[in-house]
Amino acid sequence: MVKALPQRFNPDLLARDGTRFELVLPQSQMARLSSIVSSADNDVQVTALFSRRTRHILISGRISTRFTLQCQRCLNSMHVDISEPFELVFVDNEEKASELPKELDPVVLDEKGQIHVVDLFEDEVILHIPDIPKHSDMTTCEMHQTEFGDLPADVEEGTKNPFEALKNLNLH
Ligand SMILES: [Zn+2]
Repeated sequence: MVKALPQRFNPDLLARDGTRFELVLPQSQMARLSSIVSSADNDVQVTALFSRRTRHILISGRISTRFTLQCQRCLNSMHVDISEPFELVFVDNEEKASELPKELDPVVLDEKGQIHVVDLFEDEVILHIPDIPKHSDMTTCEMHQTEFGDLPADVEEGTKNPFEALKNLNLH
């Protein structure tokens, strides 16, 4: 059974049956994430399952989204798609979070034992934004630069570079 994950929920209640949850969360609802990406115009898709392990309730699943970022080589816009597994452990307070084994990632619930989905997933999504986003190969960057008429100086001056000539051939 697949259900929509509520915006705010109590994990203890949701862990009682084996329901799989789905959630679509606009990036624009994530303030910190919005300040990092060049445009927060995509959705975050989450599929998740709650489970109990010893004294803890866990949420695990997969987060997928597309980041719109600025390429740090050619400064044009680019997309980075991610689809990453996650596993988080709910705890009642910061003290209990610090007691968790290092391999477990804690999420601190509010005083009512609840959490909002933005608070739950925003850090996890930010974690996967590349530090220095770049088009995967130089050719893509150069194509962008050509479009904008901003050729690197050595090409403008007609430097004889056999690799440049090969690259131009490949484009046709
Ligand atoms: Zn680029």
